[in-house]
Amino acid sequence: MLITDSQRTALQTLIELTAQGRALQFEHDNPKRTEELQDLISRHKELGEKRTEAAAVVDGHQDAITEATGLIEAQRSKIEKKTAELNDGTGLTSKDMVNLQEEIVGHEARVAELEESQLEEMEKLESAEDELAAVDDRIAEITASGKEVQTAVKDRKTELRELITENEAAASGARSELPQQLLTTFDANVRQGGPGAALLNGPNCQACGQEIGGAVWHGMLGADVNETYECEECEAVLLRRS
Ligand SMILES: [Zn+2]
Repeated sequence: MLITDSQRTALQTLIELTAQGRALQFEHDNPKRTEELQDLISRHKELGEKRTEAAAVVDGHQDAITEATGLIEAQRSKIEKKTAELNDGTGLTSKDMVNLQEEIVGHEARVAELEESQLEEMEKLESAEDELAAVDDRIAEITASGKEVQTAVKDRKTELRELITENEAAASGARSELPQQLLTTFDANVRQGGPGAALLNGPNCQACGQEIGGAVWHGMLGADVNETYECEECEAVLLRRS
């Protein structure tokens, strides 16, 4: 089919717009930062598990401290009771008194022991709390990065939708200048994933690579530069480069 110079320009514009539109749609459907976002989500999940573990360690030390406090109180009340008995002295033999004193000394030793282990637990609690706080800080960082990436992806999608709309408007402008028969062939090739039309530099279809026979190519070279053809292999619209 012979087309005019301005139709040739419109066809070239349509080839470019079709490729651009396809790239825009691809990016819209496959956002560039999706992998990054997935990575942040899985790191957030891992940290959540770490946080549960770290919180359990903190709880364990807190429980040990509370338990020690109870045990110390029990020992102290025994010391108090036995000291009172000893001070009162009613009905006590001197052997009873010695025994009571020994028992009090034993309870005091136990208190000292419990206090020491409680102190150790307190130190462990402090470092466990530091670890938990560090995990919380990392969770906060990951959450902030995740939100940032999500916003960026959303903004880019909005931008891409606008660009696609502009691209479609420009394409329909170019299409309005072209004959319907040529557009039908063009669209059929686009549906197959092709460029719709291709400009020939030599005896090969620039859309699919199919070789054009020598006689046909010579025929093309002899014909008007604005004569369009259809690739026998991929059905793309073909036009000789001017
Ligand atoms: Zn072809």
